Amino acid sequence: MTKVGKMLQEVLRSVGRKPATVRYPHDKITMPADFRGRLVFDPAKCIGCKMCMRDCPAAAIEIVKVGEKKFEAHVDVAKCIACGQCVDSCPKDVLRLTGDFELAQLARGKLRVTFEQDSSSPAEAAELRRAGPAAEIEKKPEPEAKK
Ligand code: SF4
Ligand code: SF4
Repeated sequence: MTKVGKMLQEVLRSVGRKPATVRYPHDKITMPADFRGRLVFDPAKCIGCKMCMRDCPAAAIEIVKVGEKKFEAHVDVAKCIACGQCVDSCPKDVLRLTGDFELAQLARGKLRVTFEQDSSSPAEAAELRRAGPAAEIEKKPEPEAKK
């Protein structure tokens, strides 16, 4: 069969089929359950262990103490590669990657997101913020060189 014939056959086969594409952004599709989109953090469950911070390969997440057993997360969406390592490392299921893929912003500053904790003592939270990020996270031991 000639190239034109093959093309015609394909065109005829496609007539009457539903389009494979959607009219985005007017039409939206639901992403698969395991899609790795925007990272979300539940402050109510965080215990401040910083496993997420330690294991993040992009240094995109910072956990800050804002009160007695209260923590906030600062996520830099521009750095986050949605690898899901923090979600796997978290022992309390605090972090979740959602189906939201619309992350673009006109200003880079808007990509820095803070998941705030409702503090019962705003003064205490302000004091802790002034003091800067909580203690340095423990560094992973360097692997021993093979002899
Ligand atoms: S998804 Fe990956 S890159 Fe993004 S904050 Fe978590 S560990 Fe870091
Ligand atoms: S690993 Fe989970 S519990 Fe620990 S600091 Fe990160 S978000 Fe909080």
